Amino acid sequence: MGNPSIRAGLRPDRPRRPAVQVSLRLRAAIGPGIGGWTMRVAVIGAGILGASVGLYLREGGASVTLYDAGEGQATPGSFGWINASWGNDPAYRALRLASMDLWPALGAAFPGAGYRRCGGLLWDLPEADLRALEQETGDYGRIVDRAAAAAVEPGLRALPELAFHAPGEAQVEPQAAARLMAGAVERLRVEALEPGTGGVSLRTVDGTARFDAAVIAAGTASASLLEPLGLGLEMSAPVGHLAWSEPVAPVLRGLVMMPDMHLRQNAEGRIVLGEDFGGGDGSGDAEDTARDLLARAGERLGVTLALSRVTRAARPVPGDGRPALGALPLPGLYLALSHSGVTLAPLIGQALAAEILTGARDPLVARYAPDRVLYSA
Ligand SMILES: Cc1cc2nc3c(=O)[nH]c(=O)nc-3n(C[C@H](O)[C@H](O)[C@H](O)COP(=O)(O)OP(=O)(O)OC[C@H]3O[C@@H](n4cnc5c(N)ncnc54)[C@H](O)[C@@H]3O)c2cc1C
Repeated sequence: MGNPSIRAGLRPDRPRRPAVQVSLRLRAAIGPGIGGWTMRVAVIGAGILGASVGLYLREGGASVTLYDAGEGQATPGSFGWINASWGNDPAYRALRLASMDLWPALGAAFPGAGYRRCGGLLWDLPEADLRALEQETGDYGRIVDRAAAAAVEPGLRALPELAFHAPGEAQVEPQAAARLMAGAVERLRVEALEPGTGGVSLRTVDGTARFDAAVIAAGTASASLLEPLGLGLEMSAPVGHLAWSEPVAPVLRGLVMMPDMHLRQNAEGRIVLGEDFGGGDGSGDAEDTARDLLARAGERLGVTLALSRVTRAARPVPGDGRPALGALPLPGLYLALSHSGVTLAPLIGQALAAEILTGARDPLVARYAPDRVLYSA
């Protein structure tokens, strides 16, 4: 893949930069259809990762067709916490921070996505770990006492002696964001892929279509698309549940991660909560757990919370827990697979689009090539 004229126009990127500038750079590099040539790219999966890759590819001048089987896997059941909080090595934190920097531009472009830089208040770690988090993350957040925590979340009745406040954390409605970024979607399951030197053929019930490149962004179904091509993909798909309340008047300003639950209030006024941001382990009776969580949350917020629904979703997690992004060892095929895909969607979309259109790999994603989670099937 890769067009020499495009490569020649490439200038090195700084690691953190606004989305719009990069889009303009991509557009300038590609020009208005060099020699009348426009790259045709298929994206398989219109969850938040496929939607973002499709968006940035279109911004870069490609002709994009998004396919979705309509099974809506992780994205509709995601908590929507945009963060670079605990559990991240320095390189992974840098990746997450770079993506967090891109979210405000996307949020402004798609107001219906409900992006809000609302901050996060966290105390689900022992004090020593909270202090280590403050040390490790520099100006990302700071330890606050009970009085300062009350100023951050005045509606919360149960506050700890110490918490970690990260003002740059944000929330978004993952499904709305994906729908808006995706635009038009072919509601078709891709049944088979045939990569070759002249492009990639995709088979659906409607027949076969040919593209210059194809991106597999099929979440937990990605492995089943690769297996017939002789490639195994190390990944897991742990299930998580979230409870969604009926709307209530505003009580929470931002995200709250307390030891027995994580919660936020969305733009509709619903309290969204799980036993942790990943949605708990999905075991037990989901509705019973949800009612119990809502009752406890209601006491702490001084409101009565009625259950609206429970979502159950499987997280697409590459074998080592880190993203698997970029060219596959088959011509014209790329992979976009990641947990924390809501946080990482803008950066993954931008980096993968640049790689497909220009052949250049963003240094921030260099270490996340798919090879390390692939094996011969
Ligand atoms: C409970 C829970 C809580 C989470 N909380 C957070 C959080 O707070 N912050 C965060 O950053 N991340 C969070 N995540 C992770 C995040 O939601 C995922 O990483 C992200 O949604 C993955 O998006 P995706 O587009 O890769 O996959 P998906 O959303 O699963 O989309 C894949 C799409 O591919 C389609 N598809 C599959 N096979 C085919 C085929 N053959 N042909 C056509 N289409 C196909 C499906 O229909 C689906 O729509 C959470 C996940 C879960 C489950």
